[in-house]
Amino acid sequence: MKQQDQQNSQNEEANFTADIVHFDRMIEHANGGVHYPLHPSTQYTYNCVADLISVFQGKSKGNSPYSRQGTPTTAVLEAKLAKIEGGIGAVAFATGMGAIAATFLTLVKAGDHIVVSEHLFGNTASFFNTLEDLGIKITRVNATSVENVRAAIKQSTRIVFVETVANPGTQVPDLALIGDLCAQQSIVYVVDNTILSAYLFKPKVVKASLVIHSLTKSAAGQGQVLGGVVIDTGLFDWQNYPNIFVNYQKGDASKWGLQQIRKKGLRDMGATLSSQAAHQISLGLETLAIRMQRTSATALTVARFLQQHPKVAKVYYPMLENHPAHQQSCELFKAGSWLFSFELVDADQCLDFVDKLKVFIKATGLGDTRSLIIPVAHTIFWEMGAKKRQSMQISDGMLRVSIGLEESDCLLADLQQALS
Ligand SMILES: *Cc1c(COP(=O)(O)O)cnc(C)c1O
Repeated sequence: MKQQDQQNSQNEEANFTADIVHFDRMIEHANGGVHYPLHPSTQYTYNCVADLISVFQGKSKGNSPYSRQGTPTTAVLEAKLAKIEGGIGAVAFATGMGAIAATFLTLVKAGDHIVVSEHLFGNTASFFNTLEDLGIKITRVNATSVENVRAAIKQSTRIVFVETVANPGTQVPDLALIGDLCAQQSIVYVVDNTILSAYLFKPKVVKASLVIHSLTKSAAGQGQVLGGVVIDTGLFDWQNYPNIFVNYQKGDASKWGLQQIRKKGLRDMGATLSSQAAHQISLGLETLAIRMQRTSATALTVARFLQQHPKVAKVYYPMLENHPAHQQSCELFKAGSWLFSFELVDADQCLDFVDKLKVFIKATGLGDTRSLIIPVAHTIFWEMGAKKRQSMQISDGMLRVSIGLEESDCLLADLQQALS
């Protein structure tokens, strides 16, 4: 990195939370509220009909006439999320799955090929099965080595998709080399950064074209609202992308991708985030950095405790020295996040063990302020069957943990009593 760039990125980081908490008041709005107002309207009106027509024809910006394509409140959240990821724009959705589905369904057509990591969030893996049924060709690869991705690429490959840290196995793809490969071959590189959040890692650094988040997890962070987003980093040249409809090939080409995702994804598919939910997510973002620092530190302490415990067989966490991607993770990520998994020596004991816990909650969510635990093979990865689980390296006794804001001693004591 050039010295000036390094300086800039450090300055940017120094202001991570300051930028978020002062964002709303910098945007012009009535009455000087420190939070941007919540806009519940579904309809928006204009001073004269010519203005209404001009908005419909895309000639002037104005508010979206109908809130299925967003509201002033969701627009402010989008701008904030684009800023913290270093992107040029964003489109928010009602859920993370809404963001993933809209991105793929608007950018690929029957006959196109995509390469995806075989270590994926279960519902995303299930969504790719749906895409396959619609005539999209899919190759699932072990993305921890760029060579597997390279070998899968064909003339018709449009997108490569990975998650920064896979859930539950915590596999980390060969992020930077896959970014180089996609850039060389003009392939859209889509990175799901839900687990780490923009605070711990910015996929733009590894040349991601689009960054996706389930805002339900790290961003909102308190187990009380659903949301999703896709952010364009500005690195992909949409003029080279064959599937942009002529209607959206207008104006600044850097905006074409997101324009299509917004128009087709929100207008035609309709997984729109409400203003109320956008406001709740905005509140969560204000504490994102301090929550990620605290939960990452606690997760490392707890992972180390489990690793040395005689009744624990294996702990999966990128910040542990024995993790296959430990070195890469230390170079790229500020910390390891709240997610880790582990296996007991006696896998048959895993359900009894979970029942003995008093502080950890038996729940499927992630990134809550409360610590959560779930046996994954029996629940979220049940439907796919044993063979598929094995190929995804999910053992029958694997327990997934999402660390919350509780004091680490309290969590260690709970684990200790349940293990003994
Ligand atoms: C939860 C999650 C999603 C889906 O998000 P929802 O908001 O639950 O729809 C996608 N990717 C990852 C990595 C997730 O953890």
